[in-house]
Amino acid sequence: MRIRRIAVTLAALLAVLCASAPAPAPAQEKLRVLATFSILGDLVRNVGGDRVEVTTLVGPNSDAHVYSPAPADAKKVAAAQVVITNGLGFEGWMARLVRASGSKASPVVATKGIKPRKQAAHGHGHDDSDPHAWQSVANAKTYVANIRAALIAADPAGKAAYEANAAAYLDKLDALDNEVKEAVARIPQERRRIITSHDAFGYFQAAYGVEFVAPQGVSTESEASARDVGRIITQIKRQKIPAVFLENITDPRLIQRISAESGARIGGRLYSDALTDEKGDAPTYLDLIRHNVKQLMAALAS
Ligand SMILES: [Zn+2]
Repeated sequence: MRIRRIAVTLAALLAVLCASAPAPAPAQEKLRVLATFSILGDLVRNVGGDRVEVTTLVGPNSDAHVYSPAPADAKKVAAAQVVITNGLGFEGWMARLVRASGSKASPVVATKGIKPRKQAAHGHGHDDSDPHAWQSVANAKTYVANIRAALIAADPAGKAAYEANAAAYLDKLDALDNEVKEAVARIPQERRRIITSHDAFGYFQAAYGVEFVAPQGVSTESEASARDVGRIITQIKRQKIPAVFLENITDPRLIQRISAESGARIGGRLYSDALTDEKGDAPTYLDLIRHNVKQLMAALAS
């Protein structure tokens, strides 16, 4: 009788212990998503949340225009269930990499539906679309919609989660878009003009009305010609352009030379085609836009 009572007590105790211990998480496979570069990877993480495992090819502070894939990248592509690219000619190396990987995933183009800006001056007969669509926050919302659709198609069970994540992030993008507009409105009209090394801010210019002039075209592949550099130095002097900016992905020497020869001061470093690492100023897309606007304000507002 006594032994039985002890046994019952033990059983009850055990039941309580089991109930209070966290239930073992079901070994849920995360959706393996590959994004070609750091900015896109961040957008995918925001929509995918903890249902996805995101891998990127071109890392922080690195230049996707001139990236050359390593053999390990083909393995990353092969392992991915969803492959997401920027498109608009940004990742010229991607089609070959996908073929080499043997992947059956057909890449999703995150800029689908965005009206491409055409590069004006550098016509060489090939596709001169400007790929830097993410520099307009309104365009980033299109990226998010395309990413949401791609994740839902690959993982229908996550539909509600992806929709909720995307909605929360889209709210942040709306707030950010307003922040940028309000900041630019405080810059005197005649000072809304700056120099960068490559032409990465055309969508920012179109959306927010700050004019960017660059000696290099929309890709860092082509070097600036002496004539282009000379033309820009003349333009800086004639239009009294207040500042030139470095970028986190390009060689600083070109801008340093333009600054020295024109007298325009270096206004800081803008993040054009890549995030920084975790310790930098722009480990996320939201940080990247905020950082750039802060730099522009500091150089142009007064
Ligand atoms: Zn670029």
